[in-house]
Amino acid sequence: MCIVGGGPAGLVLALLLVRHGIGVAVLEKHEDFLRDFRGDTVHPSTLDVMDELGLGDRIRELPHRQVDGLRVAFADGTYQMVDFTRLEVAHPYLMFLPQWDFLEMLAREAEAHPSFTLLRSHEVVDLVREEGAVQGVVARTAEGTVEVGARLTVAADGRDSIVRGKLGLRRREFGAPMDVLWFRVSRRPADGEGLDMHVGPGRLLLAIDRGEYWQIAYVIPKGGYERVVAAGLDGFRESVARLFPVLVDRVGEIGEWEDVKVLTVQLDRLRRWHAPGALLIGDAAHAMSPVGGVGVNLAVQDAVATARLLADPLRARQLDEDALARVQARRAFPTAGTQLMQRFVQRALVGRLLAADGPVTAPLAVKLLAKVPALQELPARLVGVGLRPERVGPTALGSAPG
Ligand SMILES: Cc1cc2nc3c(=O)[nH]c(=O)nc-3n(C[C@H](O)[C@H](O)[C@H](O)COP(=O)(O)OP(=O)(O)OC[C@H]3O[C@@H](n4cnc5c(N)ncnc54)[C@H](O)[C@@H]3O)c2cc1C
Repeated sequence: MCIVGGGPAGLVLALLLVRHGIGVAVLEKHEDFLRDFRGDTVHPSTLDVMDELGLGDRIRELPHRQVDGLRVAFADGTYQMVDFTRLEVAHPYLMFLPQWDFLEMLAREAEAHPSFTLLRSHEVVDLVREEGAVQGVVARTAEGTVEVGARLTVAADGRDSIVRGKLGLRRREFGAPMDVLWFRVSRRPADGEGLDMHVGPGRLLLAIDRGEYWQIAYVIPKGGYERVVAAGLDGFRESVARLFPVLVDRVGEIGEWEDVKVLTVQLDRLRRWHAPGALLIGDAAHAMSPVGGVGVNLAVQDAVATARLLADPLRARQLDEDALARVQARRAFPTAGTQLMQRFVQRALVGRLLAADGPVTAPLAVKLLAKVPALQELPARLVGVGLRPERVGPTALGSAPG
């Protein structure tokens, strides 16, 4: 079989399937995994999966930060809204880990299996189709075009999936009131630590403690990037310093607009995740809102469910479209449920805060969460564990062949 895309969904799926002894080729358009500002959050549910795979210690050895809650600063004070330490799970925290380290670790682990092939710098540009079914892919490489045949093609090629486009699969789009500007500014220990949101008139800023630096998500009204640029870099720096005053002497580190990466927020999902010979998972099947930072984790959970449901039919060479439909049936509920929560937060909180034109005080729900700490377990559970967390199952647990 072949997997298009060596992101979290593609590489977790590949690792699980090669542990089942199934031959897998992953085609990745980039030469390496070095991309800045990707989903770097690893949630308790993903850490459970890593433990099950015997990779728990390896992942914790990679340079990372742990965050155990979320505080939000309004004009009338700072309120704790989420507390991961209340979760009765093996890892009651969010781990922030560069996605490239995570992906390199997965790729190295998979490469220990002879049935794994990682084809870097292979950009899939078309599908091979015979008798109405997908039978593999066509990829562009530095040496020319190659064809990779496969009984099953899994598209894990992200939110702009080429496979989805070629199959003409339709999405339900839900829209979002915001876009996000990502950048970094150096951090000093005296700044504080953890995860803080700062709310100002028409702007939100999420500061993520990444050790040496703050990773900043500056949330703006949808389509508002041109207006931010028109207001000038100095205006932008001032706005950042107003929202997060400890950065006032460092906002100059945002040297040019190239330092700021724009994430156009999308929230959508496919009506049908499969076609004869092809299945779509992760962002390719459902682009998530950044609310809760759940994109990586849902992608990993999709991969775990796919491997568990398809390994036997793949080995027995009895894979039909019903088996692919079972993956969608399994993952449709957590996807739709998570998106429903994201849409609620986008509408009830983010949209309203972004529409404010004066100082913003904490809404009642925020004050209630802060006053009754036990309630903070609910958002922690929805984000950290999610709906219907997946288990790897016994057959893929083993490590690399001896
Ligand atoms: C700026 C930004 C910030 C984000 N922040 C967070 C966050 O904090 N937390 C979080 O959980 N999520 C976050 N996300 C979302 C998160 O990165 C995704 O949800 C997650 O990576 C999805 O995993 P995936 O494997 O489905 O797809 P992707 O990670 O998108 O991986 C797709 C892979 O396919 C490859 N590919 C694409 N097209 C082709 C092709 N034609 N041929 C071959 N290979 C191809 C790509 O190079 C990529 O490696 C963020 C996303 C962005 C863009």
